[in-house]
Amino acid sequence: MRRKLAAGNWKMNGTSSALGELTSLANTYPAPSVEVLICPPATLLHRAAETVHSTHIEVGGQDCHANGSGAHTGDISAEMLVDAGATAVILGHSERREDHDEQNEDVRAKARAAMDAGLKAIICVGESLEQREAANTLDIIGGQMSGSIPELSTGENLIVAYEPIWAIGTGKVPTLDEIGEVHDFIRARLERRFGEGVGRSVRLLYGGSVKPGNAAEIFAVSNVDGALVGGASLKAQDFAGIIDALQNA
Ligand code: PEP
Repeated sequence: MRRKLAAGNWKMNGTSSALGELTSLANTYPAPSVEVLICPPATLLHRAAETVHSTHIEVGGQDCHANGSGAHTGDISAEMLVDAGATAVILGHSERREDHDEQNEDVRAKARAAMDAGLKAIICVGESLEQREAANTLDIIGGQMSGSIPELSTGENLIVAYEPIWAIGTGKVPTLDEIGEVHDFIRARLERRFGEGVGRSVRLLYGGSVKPGNAAEIFAVSNVDGALVGGASLKAQDFAGIIDALQNA
């Protein structure tokens, strides 16, 4: 049985005052029936972890370095995320693949470091609009999966997020059939590579313009175990609409 997960990605948004949103979330969900994770900017991570300490809300990072320590100015290691209170980290988000030229092998090395440090790695995959229009979506996703997902993955340490790049922050969402096709494909690929037991236990998130108004129909799609949410995770009230939909799915 896969535990459903509502994960929020605050990206480069939020200063101290945003911690109040976490307090509201923790007060609204003292005992959620789904896993709830917020990934704030690194500057807020430690305080965010303290804010949700002894609640059922978890916090995570948005990236980590592949090395444990060293001369890497501006970077953060997986151990540092754990030390700050993180239980998970988003890796290979399309914005990092684009802004920082991250390749599949970089994502894989980071995921290995994250898993070694005891973090859940949320590995993002997704096609551009051009790739979808050229009917290359499944090839792209398959390539990203084999390149980015490390061998040591299990149902506990790996979460895959399908995020079509053209749906992120745009208000555009694939049809439910399109989401289902990709999620079924990801599930089949995981089962083929890791065996049925592991393949079936990895959670698959959909990400890209998920809002309270469209969450329920997306969560009804096969092999959708939750969502990775950007904009609608910034306000506790909006994110609550998505958590409610997931709890009722
Ligand atoms: C994201 O950045 O992972 C994301 C899905 O953003 P949004 O929900 O704003 O489309």
